[in-house]
Amino acid sequence: LIYLLNSNITVGKNGVPVAENFRLEQSTIADTVQAGQVRVKTLYLSVDPYMRCRMNEDTGSDYLRPWQLSEVADGGGIGVVEESQHHNLAKGDFVTSFTWPWQTAAILDGDSLQKLEPQLVNGHLSYFLGAAGITGLTALLGIREKGHVAAGANQTMVVSGAAGACGSLAGQIGRLEGCSRVVGIAGTDEKCSILVQEMGFDAAINYKKGDVAKQLRELCPGGVDVYFDNVGGDISDTVISQMNQNSHIILCGQISQYNKDVPYPPPLPPDTEKIQKERNITRERFLVLNYMDKQEASVLQLCQWIQEGKLKVRETVVEGLASMGAAFQSMMNGGNIGKQIVSISK
Ligand code: NAP
Repeated sequence: LIYLLNSNITVGKNGVPVAENFRLEQSTIADTVQAGQVRVKTLYLSVDPYMRCRMNEDTGSDYLRPWQLSEVADGGGIGVVEESQHHNLAKGDFVTSFTWPWQTAAILDGDSLQKLEPQLVNGHLSYFLGAAGITGLTALLGIREKGHVAAGANQTMVVSGAAGACGSLAGQIGRLEGCSRVVGIAGTDEKCSILVQEMGFDAAINYKKGDVAKQLRELCPGGVDVYFDNVGGDISDTVISQMNQNSHIILCGQISQYNKDVPYPPPLPPDTEKIQKERNITRERFLVLNYMDKQEASVLQLCQWIQEGKLKVRETVVEGLASMGAAFQSMMNGGNIGKQIVSISK
């Protein structure tokens, strides 16, 4: 089974993606595995916010290729090798790639795959698409590269998109790295209570209820020193207005703007920009792919924290390749708690 970008329904630069932007087809893969290739069975696929940009003809980033109409979509995936003609991969190996085709089985170039060690995540392979993969790396390296977190400095961190894949890890890592207070902002009461009760956040605000600015003032009486920004837009303007002199924004993502035809990163509104400049708040673009030299050591750190129970991991899992479009739509609309995963086969 293969999953394609649908040629009949396009989303456009200002459109909201829906499951019908994709369609499922039956197809066959080649019978023979050539030298250097492997045949894999897909186990897990990831849906991520950046995929929205791949639905535009111009993704706005030189590192993202647009998905082509009527071609198989691709993204982060994990599978098991069933037949190998590659010197370094054997039948039964678990492998991953950022450009895994949305197919139940595939023949892939062995050099494009990274071998996984399941024992690092106690056999929980899908973590390599989340907490022990790009998502965890984004949270950890975002904080280390752009957060200026210093143990003992009594810093308050605010995280937006806090109950999502990156956000739920970022708050916990902020604490592990030394922040004294961590406050999350998320879209439901259930998410807020999980952040506080399971993930060790000091408090969480449901941005769909009540006055966010007022709640933030009460919950961050000393102002905000580090802001891990996943969402942009009004929420970020509110947080930035309460940030301290010489504080830092980790510009991770701006999901509230992804269905709009704006450049990335979107410019701040004039009032917010004025505050940012006057208070000398840093807001540098952060892209995890620029720090892949730190991948190996950072994944080991994340796996160690997971094994020690210091990093709590949540996933929202749906089953089957046919669910890819619905899972993507749901994640973009806040249907997930933690990492959205699609389980393709056992
Ligand atoms: P995620 O947070 O697991 O899922 C997206 C979440 O965004 C939803 O669950 C929803 O939660 C929230 N959301 C959707 N629309 C929103 C809106 N208009 N306003 C506020 N919140 C909204 O996804 P993720 O994979 O962890 O990605 C989080 C962010 O990190 C994204 O912006 C992504 O682009 C970015 N990212 C950046 C890098 C990098 O290298 N810089 C790497 C990976 C990801 P609610 O219920 O709370 O609304």
